[in-house]
This record gives sequence, C-alpha cells and structure tokens, in this order.
Amino acid sequence: MATIKPIEGRSVHQIQSGQVIVDLISVCKELVENSVDAGATSIEVRFKKNGLDSIEVQDNGSGIAPDDYETIALKHYTSKLSTYDDLSSLQTFGFRGEALSSLCALSKFHIITARASDGARGTRLEFEQSGKLKSTSVVAAKQGTTVVVETLFHNLPVRRKELEKNAKREYSKVLEMLQAYACISTGVKFSVSNQVPKGKKMVAFATNSNPNTRENLANVFGAKALLTLIPLSLEFEMDPSNRPGSTQSVRNWGTQEEGSHTVKIVGHISRPVVGEGRGLPDRQMFFVNSRPCNLPQVRKAFNEVYKSYNISQSPFVFADIKLDTNAYDVNVSPDKRTIMLHDQAALLESLRDALAELFEGHDQSVPQAQLL
Ligand code: ADP
Ligand code: MG
Repeated sequence: MATIKPIEGRSVHQIQSGQVIVDLISVCKELVENSVDAGATSIEVRFKKNGLDSIEVQDNGSGIAPDDYETIALKHYTSKLSTYDDLSSLQTFGFRGEALSSLCALSKFHIITARASDGARGTRLEFEQSGKLKSTSVVAAKQGTTVVVETLFHNLPVRRKELEKNAKREYSKVLEMLQAYACISTGVKFSVSNQVPKGKKMVAFATNSNPNTRENLANVFGAKALLTLIPLSLEFEMDPSNRPGSTQSVRNWGTQEEGSHTVKIVGHISRPVVGEGRGLPDRQMFFVNSRPCNLPQVRKAFNEVYKSYNISQSPFVFADIKLDTNAYDVNVSPDKRTIMLHDQAALLESLRDALAELFEGHDQSVPQAQLL
C-alpha cells in the first residue's frame, strides 16, 4: 500500500498559516500594513493583556466593498497583485493575500468595515477557520476597517503556551516594530494602547498627523531626544557596469538598461560625538522605500562606520533607503521581513563611503587622532 498521501486541505492551511503568522509581531505588522495600504490617515492599535486576549487594529481607510466580503479572507485573494510580474513595481505592503486567511486559521477573528458611502452603517464579518465567510450583520461604524484578533494560537497549544510565557517580551518587541511604522508613516495619526486586566487602558505611544518623520520621532521618543540627532541624507550612484565581474544581464537595476542608478538614504542618525548621552533608546530602524525591514548587513555598515568616530556608543539610526523597485526582492520570507537587495556588496561599499563623508563633514565630530 502506498504510504505517500496528500495532506488534508485543512491541515495544509494551518501549516502554511503558521508560517505567515509566527508571533504577535506578525499579526500587528500584517494588520497595520493593510491599514496603510487602505490609505488610512488614522490607525489605532489596541491590545488587551499585552495581546494575549486580543489585538484590534482600527483604521479610517477605504473600507471593504460588499463584493469582496466573500473572498477577503480566502488564501491568495488580494486586491494588490494579480501576476508575478507586478511584484517588481509593487507599491503596497501586502501582495500575497495570506494574512487574513492565516488569522482565520489561527485565532478567533472578525472584521467590522464601512465605506464612505455607507453612512454610519457598518458590517460585521465573521469567518470560518478556512477563511470562508460565515455571516454578516449590520452594526454602527465609522468609515474604515477594524480587524479583531482574539486568543491568537488558541488551536496551536505549543505556540499559545510559548506566547503566554513570553507575553511581556513579545509585547515590547511589538511596540518597537509599531514605533517604526508610526515614525515612517507621515500624515498618519498613529496610536497604540494596552489594557491589562483590572487596569486602565494605557496609551503606549501616539503620533499626530505629522508632515515629516522628525516630528514623528519627537512624538514617539520625546522632543529632547532629537537634539542628539543629525539629518541623514546620503546620495550615491550605483554603477553596475563599472564593477569587476559584473554583467548587465545579471545586475538588473531597474528600467535604465545601462548606466547608473541613484540610491538615496534619508532619515536621522546620532551625532558622532563622543560622550554625548543619546537620550534615546538603543534603536536602529531600517526601511526600504518606507517598508520596515531587517537589513543586518546595512546595520553592520552603519555601526562600523559610526564606531570609527565614536568608539563608545552605537548610534540611533532611522534610515530609509530609496531604491528602484527592481533593485530588491521582498518575497524572500513568508513574513516579508527579510529583503534581498540586489548587488548588496556594491551598495554597502558606497554607503560606507557616503557615511564617512557625512561624519567627516560634521563640525562636532571628534577627529580620529583624539580617539587613539
Ligand atoms: P494582502 O494584503 O496581501 O492583499 P491580506 O490577507 O492582508 O492580503 O488582505 C486581503 C485583502 O483584504 C487585501 O488585498 C485588501 O483588499 C483587503 N483588506 C485587508 N485589510 C484591509 C483594511 N484594513 N482596509 C481595507 N481593505 C483591507
Ligand atoms: Mg496584507
């Protein structure tokens, strides 16, 4: 008798969902990204018991059209991408249509949504674990969407236990991640709160609809913290054809077939001054075209160059790398936190030079000789 059999559909769904939604961070990241993609200018994230009881993300974005109710939580249904080719010009955070379907499989989940044309009438959507729409009912709601995730991992006992054990640590990592989204999102009013049992609802942090990231940083980390920062504004050309061993065909840097590509890195970084208290948490936030992501090699380059000016500290960094959408790949890991930069080595080399130049030119930087 054959021993190899296909896995039952429901189990496949659960296995795959567990790769998209791995922890509390992935839940919040996916929901906040959906709100930004929906054009929201106000995003409120509410936790109960550090997220163990529930996570709610409420936005004032476009809302969901009734025609989409049936499919919104089905796997690989998305309004953002229809063919693989579209990936290279992607402007949205989401594109795989996996988040809501995964949340249906791993939590008690519902949505309340209303569009501008719906007046004060909203619709509450309930789903089956498979993502199939179970029921709809009319409720009072303002324009936008509220997604409610209760008892995350209730059906994965090992993960649930792990989450309960590490709830406080997970929650503080979630706050860091949300701070990155709040700081990069200009023109968006962001607020995050947590309610612990028998306690009051505590606002963790909030931003106003600021026109720039500097004011967002001031809202999140306090205005005083800004005194230790200088603007980060680097620009350099990437010229793939000049590099030894490179051929244009494997280095696909966007639409210009030949010639160079401009890379810009904008944001804020600690002044390279020895002994200056940062007044800021030890935080380094990296973005590619405003998408928060893990960039360990870029982080390393920032730290190493900074350390040659200030041995005693590592810098606070808030850096958004502006790249051609063809110059990186976001589809590397199921949670989209890892980004693959094409021609990373060349980018890092130029980055190091440009950073050194920035610190060199900074009048308060301490000359190398004094450090020896
Ligand atoms: P993806 O973001 O990759 O498309 P999701 O599962 O996160 O996949 O969401 C599925 C679809 O549901 C989205 O493509 C979008 O059309 C809709 N959607 C999700 N969240 C919101 C929201 N907050 N406001 C409006 N539409 C939303
Ligand atoms: Mg999404």
